[in-house]
Amino acid sequence: MDVKVKFLGGAKSVTGSRYLLEIGSLKVMVDCGLFQGRKELRLRNWDEFPIEPSSIDLILLTHAHIDHTGYLPRLVRQGFGGRIIATEPTVDLVKILLRDSAKLQEEEAAYAQKKGYSKHAKPEPLYTIEDAEKVFPLLEPIGFEEETDLNPQMTVTAYNAGHILGAAILKLKIKGTQQEKIMVFSGDLGRYHDPILNPPANIPFADILFIESTYGNRKNEAVAVEEQLALHIRTTYRNGGVSLIPSFAVGRTQLVLYYLHRLQQKGKIPNIPIYVDSPMAIDVTELYKTYSHYHRLGPTLEDKGTNPYSHSRLHYYQSQEASISLNAIKGDAIIISASGMATGGRILHHLYNRLPNENDSIIFVGYQAEGTRGRRLLDGEKTIRMYGIDVDVKASIHYIDGLSAHADQTELLEWADAFTTKPKRSFIVHGEPEASEALATRLHEDLGWNPIVPEYLESFELFSGI
Ligand SMILES: [Zn+2]
Repeated sequence: MDVKVKFLGGAKSVTGSRYLLEIGSLKVMVDCGLFQGRKELRLRNWDEFPIEPSSIDLILLTHAHIDHTGYLPRLVRQGFGGRIIATEPTVDLVKILLRDSAKLQEEEAAYAQKKGYSKHAKPEPLYTIEDAEKVFPLLEPIGFEEETDLNPQMTVTAYNAGHILGAAILKLKIKGTQQEKIMVFSGDLGRYHDPILNPPANIPFADILFIESTYGNRKNEAVAVEEQLALHIRTTYRNGGVSLIPSFAVGRTQLVLYYLHRLQQKGKIPNIPIYVDSPMAIDVTELYKTYSHYHRLGPTLEDKGTNPYSHSRLHYYQSQEASISLNAIKGDAIIISASGMATGGRILHHLYNRLPNENDSIIFVGYQAEGTRGRRLLDGEKTIRMYGIDVDVKASIHYIDGLSAHADQTELLEWADAFTTKPKRSFIVHGEPEASEALATRLHEDLGWNPIVPEYLESFELFSGI
């Protein structure tokens, strides 16, 4: 039996993760991500899929982020009807995230039509909510560290990756007629010291390794996240203002809630109300309670006094009217809302309302990509255009680094070094070219590996005649 891999995405890019394995006559795809970011990447989502979607037998997902799952509705619409295997939390998160992604696609198409900037008379969304919902019946959950038979040729085992709830490192055992081979996909790897998620599992052996490199060229400085957060909130409180925290609904919001609860318990910030104004964040936080054995907070969620996601000062706001009512609050409050880069969602009306007020503060807790409103605010722009109006920026703007969900270069090397024998071949994926090349250099110099940084659509023969 021969085994081949083709890189349908996530090669020299951080988005569009899709790795096609041909195992004898079987076609298996690991991840099915959407391309995001630069226009030339986003246009790939509209290209004809490189192989006939109905010919794919099986899809395995490392985790729920859209750059790993966001192409699924399109693939199903084009004829894919096989099983999609993922951990239990990933299955539930995928449903939340794909619905949201589809809603954004529909809104974008409607907006393009209204503004008339599309060359099509009736711009179509990449997929609809209905398309997204057709993915759901195909999803099949597995647990961590349970070897699951997929077919006579292969098994899969998921190990904790520590990146977001349910994120997995996937180990595939390929059973040839002569030999067995092990392939490992790192997925996105998390941090070694995260208060909520366990560190990435060490994997002792792989014939073939696919390792991510998002931060392959970056070292996260150890920053006192909690102290910085406390300082900005205390200062805003003393000024009589409201602290507004734009935050991603998955992972980041739960981490911020954890820190805020700890700070209030320790008396480092006042016991003022905390409002979570993001329906998606509310649904995701609920999953942390359902899947308490997938993270480190399990026992603390059982007691009102220690639960960072359920206490008397914490309020979840679902409806649009409730969200708007928060604009009337003049001080003594913390509001968390999405999206994290202020590109859309409810955070927009909060910013519109808070930015002109010099007593309020905006605290960014995640990376702000080039071209986003978040980045422009961090760059110190004095007015920001919203709803067709130039809004004065008088509120104080802060940025807290160090809350990243990605392993940095040192952590990636530490994880790689835990292989007790060198993988026979390794591929560096999921990174910008400079990040992937930097990690390749370090793996070569520090560990004596000879990794390959593959190109988009490049193929490799991995095993022949096994
Ligand atoms: Zn991710």
